[in-house]
Parts: sequence; C-alpha cells; structure tokens
Amino acid sequence: MFFLPTVNAYAAQDAHSPLAPFQIERRELRAQDVQLEILYSGVCHSDLHQARSEWGPSLYPLVPGHEIVGRVTAVGEGVSRFQVGDLAGVGVMIDSCQHCESCAEGLEQYCENGHTTTYNSREKDTGNLTFGGYSTSIVVTEQFVLRVPGSLALPAVAPLLCAGITMYSPLKHWKIGRGHHVAIVGLGGLGHLGIKLAVALGAEVTLFTTSQGKAADGLRLGAHHVVISNDPDAMKAVRGSFDFILSTVPTKHDLNPYLRTLKRDGQLIIVGAIDPVGVHGGLLISHRRSVAGSNIGGVAETQEMLDFCGEHGIVADIELIDMQDINVAYERMVNNDVKYRFVIDMASLK
Ligand code: NAP
Ligand code: ZN
Repeated sequence: MFFLPTVNAYAAQDAHSPLAPFQIERRELRAQDVQLEILYSGVCHSDLHQARSEWGPSLYPLVPGHEIVGRVTAVGEGVSRFQVGDLAGVGVMIDSCQHCESCAEGLEQYCENGHTTTYNSREKDTGNLTFGGYSTSIVVTEQFVLRVPGSLALPAVAPLLCAGITMYSPLKHWKIGRGHHVAIVGLGGLGHLGIKLAVALGAEVTLFTTSQGKAADGLRLGAHHVVISNDPDAMKAVRGSFDFILSTVPTKHDLNPYLRTLKRDGQLIIVGAIDPVGVHGGLLISHRRSVAGSNIGGVAETQEMLDFCGEHGIVADIELIDMQDINVAYERMVNNDVKYRFVIDMASLK
C-alpha cells in the first residue's frame, strides 16, 4: 500500500471555528512538479475572508496561505527551471486551463475556464481540495512556481506573491509612471506595497487613510502626501486631483468621496471583492471617470514584479509570527492593527 506524504498544517474546519492544527496529504510528485519546503507564509486579508466564508461558502477543511516562499526539496523528472536547494515562491494560483485566450496571453488569473487557486479550490484532474501555505510543504506544477530574488530578506518577500502583484498588475496595465498622480486607498498589506511600487514606477503618490496614526508611516514608506479620508474638508481639498486611484478597502464602503477626487478620465480601481455603496452615475459622466477591478496578476507578470522588487529593493514591512498565533493575528487584522503584513515563520509548525 502506498501512503502519500503527510504534512503539518493549520486549517479552518468551518466558517466559525478558529484555525487549528491539521494534517494534510500532498500529492505524489509528478513529472512537472516542484516540491517546496515552506519557509514563510504571508497572511492576506483574503485568507480571513475565505476562512470565514465571507465570499460565499468556502470548501472545508480550509488551509489558507497564498504568499509562499520556500526552498525546493524535490523536482519531477520533467522540471527544467528548478533544482533542489533553489529558493522559490508560490502565489494565489497553482493551475489554469492553459488554452483559453486569457491563458494564451499570460493572463491566467482571468482563465476563462477558471484558474485553480492555491487553497479553497479543487485540482482540475483529481477533484481533490487544494491546501495553501499554512503548512510545512507544498507540491505545485513548475509553471506556477516563481523564482525569488536571493538579494531580498526572505520573510519580507512572501507578501509580494499576492499583495505585491495585486498592486503591480493594475499599475502596469494602466501604464502608471512618471507624471501621474496616483492615490492608494488603505495602508494595509496591499496598500503599503502599492505605495512602494507606485513610487518606484515614478508616480507622485498620495495615501488615503482612515487612520490618522498611520500618516507618518505613509510618508516614511514613500508617499508624497497623505490625506485623512474620513475628514470631509481634507477630501474636498483634493477634489479633481488624481489620474488613478487604487483602492484596497476590504469592506463595504462609499466610493463616491473617492470618485470626486479623480480628474477627467481618471480611474478608480478596486481589488477588494466588496459591494460598493451606490456609485453616483453623475460623478462618472461629468468627468468621464471609470471604476474597474483587477485580480492579482499572471505568472509571467508576477515574475516580472519579483524581479522589479529585486532591482529596487522592495519588500514588505512585516511582523513575523508563529503559526500558533494565527487566530490573534486575524483578530488584529480585523481591528486594523497590522504593520503592515503578518508573515508566519513556518519553522514554528515543524
Ligand atoms: P488589510 O491589510 O486589512 O488592509 C486593508 C486596509 O484598508 C486597512 O489597513 C485600512 O487602512 C483600510 N480600511 C479598512 N476598512 C476600511 C473602511 N471601512 N474604509 C476605508 N478604509 C478601510 O487587507 P489587505 O490584505 O491589504 O487586503 C485588502 C483587500 O484586498 C481585501 O479585501 C482582500 O481580500 C483584497 N485582495 C484582493 C486581491 C485581488 O487580486 N483582487 C488580492 C489580495 C487581496 P487605513 O487604516 O489606512 O484606512
Ligand atoms: Zn492575498
């Protein structure tokens, strides 16, 4: 009888229970597979949304984690880009159909047949549940494994795999750079990397924050200006100012105050799967403004982002935690008390 490798993990068993120790099986190595020992795993607000079924019913048991950095411990015989001992990363996706128009364009995150997410999904061929990075190892097809720049502090690289690419992709898609005035909404895991990336791309950057106490950090992280978004006078003072707003707000809220701050032809991009409070058509029509969404980035673009961060020395500002502290970390994330990304030291689970 053949036994699959058993791996230590932390899982949610339903939408209401805290995460707790759990054993999972990883698949036997296939020809194209890379096996990683997970060293660090970032904690994304999406982990919490899905652990608690906030986006509709999740698949349980649910092992979150899609900001994974590790070391290659085995490779299948068909793997050409990785060797045992290499550093590598895994982000939000581990598979896609590979033949639709989006996949052909390197936009696997918009796969028309649905990409397979790192957790809370099912493997296309086996139907088995996928389990994420809150675990000590993972097996992923080479095509969805990223090279990690060795020059950067490893724990602080992990958040680039989701938070970093989610900010980088829209900035690149809408060709943001020198001469653009960009606003980033929310100084959290995504937002703090959004500031660093937009500044590195040459934009003039403003932070919109609801937290007065984060203003100094916003400037330290590179923002040129900070606006307290729940101060109506401060919002009035920046009406018609921005070419591009990238909003990371994770909860239902009113977009209209932000729309008023866009110039003619300005765009407000949301990345939170939120239910926006009634967008006022007049605010769009009067200045040809638009609202759009954006989902992570493709595999090639994620590699481009990691290389860009390597060149520019960009990593996340993190608080390293043990796996056993995850439930406290979730509560702190809900209470907006993270500076600015929790990363789990996976050695704590061994
Ligand atoms: P986070 O670390 O919790 O940061 C969110 C920030 O938003 C907070 O720090 C806070 O910043 C601000 N905020 C919170 N509630 C707010 C409210 N009611 N009104 C205005 N601002 C508020 O979360 P995250 O990990 O960055 O994730 C942000 C969102 O992006 C989540 O919904 C997540 O699921 C989503 N996401 C999307 C993608 C994608 O590909 N589309 C990828 C990853 C994550 P201030 O204190 O500065 O106001
Ligand atoms: Zn994420």
